[in-house]
Amino acid sequence: MISDVFCKIINGELPAERVFEDDDYLVVKDINPVAPVHWLIMPKKHFEKLDDFGKKDVELLGGALRLADKLAHERGLLKGYRLIINEGEDGGKLVPHLHIHLLGGKRLGQKIVQD
Ligand code: AMP
Repeated sequence: MISDVFCKIINGELPAERVFEDDDYLVVKDINPVAPVHWLIMPKKHFEKLDDFGKKDVELLGGALRLADKLAHERGLLKGYRLIINEGEDGGKLVPHLHIHLLGGKRLGQKIVQD
């Protein structure tokens, strides 16, 4: 696990290629893309993990999914995309600030697990 670089990006302390920003969300390009389109959609409010979401925050999480779909369509991913959340050690989570990977821009393989 590395430190919460995403809070630093949100606060403007670190640079990133911003795709979208509003009061609640920031979307940046992944620094190490694994597909032609690889964005990270994050709520600005700090949640380390899904377990930190209370009932009152569910709307924020749902909003992130709606935003993903809206941006995908607006930016031309008309043939689809994939969303991934890595959670915990076995899930390969590196940055302790909840984020959703959006992958697209090519036909993605069926295999989402690699050894
Ligand atoms: P994970 O926590 O496993 O879901 O993955 C974190 C993702 O954040 C990885 O795909 C990294 O390439 C990406 N990442 C790490 N630091 C930065 C950064 N400064 N700007 C953009 N993406 C980053």
